This record gives sequence, structure tokens and C-alpha cells, in this order.
Amino acid sequence: MNEVLLAARNITKRFGGLSAVSDVSLDLWQGAIHAVIGPNGAGKSTLTHLLSGDLAPTTGTVTLAGQDVTGWRPERISRAGLGRSYQKTNIFLPFTVWENVRLAAQSRHQRAARWLSRAGAFADTNERAARALELAALQHRRDAVAGTMSHGEQRQLEIAMSLATAPRVLLLDEPLAGMGTSEAERMVELLLRLKAEHAMMLVEHDMDAVFALADRLTVMLNGQVIASGEPAQVRADPTVQTAYLGE
Ligand code: ADP
Ligand code: MG
Repeated sequence: MNEVLLAARNITKRFGGLSAVSDVSLDLWQGAIHAVIGPNGAGKSTLTHLLSGDLAPTTGTVTLAGQDVTGWRPERISRAGLGRSYQKTNIFLPFTVWENVRLAAQSRHQRAARWLSRAGAFADTNERAARALELAALQHRRDAVAGTMSHGEQRQLEIAMSLATAPRVLLLDEPLAGMGTSEAERMVELLLRLKAEHAMMLVEHDMDAVFALADRLTVMLNGQVIASGEPAQVRADPTVQTAYLGE
């Protein structure tokens, strides 16, 4: 049975006089990709920060797997099952792929490790890191130094790092940014593979990727949702045509 894993209700974020996100409600369903599009400055990244706990909403609530997580620290929200990749990369460039993924896996179980034996926690972390590498199709790059890899592979590594915390919800902010055609195709395939086991929010400018991946589509403009629903219907909406897709 598919269920709503993350629900935002009427969330607003004000920076001084500016409402970067204004009265936004959104549901992320298990097994579905919810794409969020909109011009630069529309509030898409701020919205992901509000869902991940990197920013606290001025008003409104965020619920994760039925639990109200509004105002929780990002680390706690991460442990409760939310993974995210950042628009700006979060990788330790001098470290190998394996070291990066293992560090990410470790961050999840700092608390659990107190209860497990040291050896048990170690095995659990290694297992989660190995599974994340496999899911992200990066096993063959395990020993590569992150800083020497292509831009596309670094973005893939970022996804692997968010998978290493074994999230149920994934927030991806422009995972295809700066990619060439074949890198973008590989990333689209990766996201399709992840879809069944996660609820995903995808902020993306690449419309081919959005329409290939999205089950739901939300369009933002000036902090507000101007349209939301089935991608084909949203695309045909005259408001959306004028505001964003019309050029
Ligand atoms: P998008 O990701 O859609 O391009 P953002 O969420 O980054 O948009 O930004 C939305 C608006 O909020 C922009 O006008 C931006 O300048 C503003 N903004 C974002 N973060 C901050 C901040 N920390 N302080 C003040 N204004 C911000
Ligand atoms: Mg952004």
C-alpha cells in the first residue's frame, strides 16, 4: 500500500520582508517522484531546507512518516528517515568514494551504536555503505578519490551518501545540474531505480528529465505554488505556460 511519507502543511518562510516560501502544502508518496520546478528565486531550495530541517518554517508544519518533525534539528530528521542531496556538493574531495559513503552511513547510527556492540555497529555501518554504493551503481569506483572523479560521478556519489543513511524520503536539489547528456541519462536511470523504495522530491530544471520521471508536478513562482498535479495537466495549464514554460 502506498502512503504519504512526508507532508508539508501551509509552510511559510520569511526572511525579513521577503516570503521565500509562502503557504506551501505538499505530499510525498512512497514509490513516487514529486518534481518541483520554477524559475530561479522561486523558493525551491528554501522549500527543501524547510523539509530537511536545515531551516525552520516561520509558520506551518512538516510531518514525516506520521510524526510531526517541525522544528527538529536536521540530524534528528535524518535519523527519522529523511535523506537529501544539496545543490552545492557536500563531498569530502580528498577522500575515496568508500570513505565518503562510510562516513555518511556512520552519521546515522551514532545513537544506535551506544546500544549495539562496537563490532555490531561496525558491521551494520559497512553493510549500509555497501548497499548504498550498489544502489548508486558506484561499486567499481569504490577506491577512487572523490576529487579526481567527473562532475557526474560526484553527483552520483552525493546520492550514494544520502542513501547510506537508509532514508525512506529523498530530497534532491537539481541532481542533473551541469551534467552532459550521457551523465544526465545515467542519473535519470538511477532515480528511476530508486523510485520504488522511496518517496522522492526532485527539484530540477531539465524538463526532459522532469517529464520522464515525475508522477506529480508542482510549479512555484515567487514562493507560491501556482499549479500542482499530474505532469501532463500542469504542463497544459495556461497559468504555467505564461509564468514559466511559455518561452
Ligand atoms: P530557488 O531555489 O527556487 O532558486 P531559493 O529558495 O534559493 O530559490 O530562494 C528564494 C528566495 O529567497 C530568493 O529571493 C532568495 O534570494 C531568498 N533567500 C534564500 N535564502 C535566503 C536567506 N538565507 N536569507 C535571505 N533571503 C534568502
Ligand atoms: Mg535552488
